[in-house]
Amino acid sequence: RAKAAGRNAIRFYHPAMQRSVDARLELEKELRRALERGGLELHYQPQHCAAGRLAGAEALLRWPHPQHGFVPPNEFIPIAEESGLILPLGRWVLETACRQISRWYREGLLAGIDHIAVNISPRQFHQPEFVAEVEAVLAATGAPPQKLMLELTEGIVIEDVTDTIAKMEALREVGVRFSIDDFGTGYSSLLYLKRLPLDEIKIDRSFVSDLETDPNDRAIVETILSMARHLDLAVVAEGVETETQRDFLKRHGCRFYQGWFYSKPLPAAEFRERLRRRRLSA
Ligand code: C2E
Ligand code: MG
Ligand code: MG
Ligand code: MG
Repeated sequence: RAKAAGRNAIRFYHPAMQRSVDARLELEKELRRALERGGLELHYQPQHCAAGRLAGAEALLRWPHPQHGFVPPNEFIPIAEESGLILPLGRWVLETACRQISRWYREGLLAGIDHIAVNISPRQFHQPEFVAEVEAVLAATGAPPQKLMLELTEGIVIEDVTDTIAKMEALREVGVRFSIDDFGTGYSSLLYLKRLPLDEIKIDRSFVSDLETDPNDRAIVETILSMARHLDLAVVAEGVETETQRDFLKRHGCRFYQGWFYSKPLPAAEFRERLRRRRLSA
């Protein structure tokens, strides 16, 4: 389907790829410096349940650049992935999110909150010591593993299914859960749905954005939701921008909703305020 091809085209012809080697090296150097000097932030995008209540969040990396404003993750994550900087960067994200989870948990703000999700990049996941790293971060921060959802992409899975399953099972043993990000955009979606020990799938924004106009996307989303129900997987719809999209998803049994209709990603302090208000209204 065109959507899959389009996705790859985006990846292949991505602006970051078109930068000169020099510009990429410069960006990587600046990113490394930002990481070392505390110049990166995690923002939290709320996820809501069908009844409308705040139910979770996804942690998203933000790099406020002194000259260029916020640099979009889609521009710097591929560069970090290629250069290996993603390893210390991914670790920083995991540590920061877990420290935050631990603090909010101790403040009583995570009661009734299903999870805080963290994106894991392929290179980070495929490190031999990935499982030990996550366990060490959980132990060091005191974050309850049950509140941590790790978002994997299809890229991760197709590299080595056996190793992927082994790592997922080891971490699920501890209580960590797993989600497949951007579901439906890759090649092998159905194949690994059956094989992987998953808890959740995230319907890619590209399917949600045209729900109102594209009957094919409506059919795909309906199919994903009914399949997920049979496989007992929770579903998060990403990129929900309108009430009509939300209503369609709701009618077909979607469990969680993330997108501008509810909220843009928020700085930690603002997200904490949402958690606090939720508690007060409980
Ligand atoms: P993703 O994991 O699929 O994250 C969802 C993206 O959709 C985010 O873009 C979010 O801001 C955006 N989004 C959410 N709701 C809406 C909406 O209603 N409309 C529109 N137009 N966009 C919406 P963002 O933050 O720019 O991140 C892009 C990608 O960069 C992420 O896609 C993820 O693959 C990657 N990324 C971000 N943070 C991290 C990180 O900490 N680690 C890793 N490995 N990757 C990250
Ligand atoms: Mg994600
Ligand atoms: Mg996603
Ligand atoms: Mg996406």
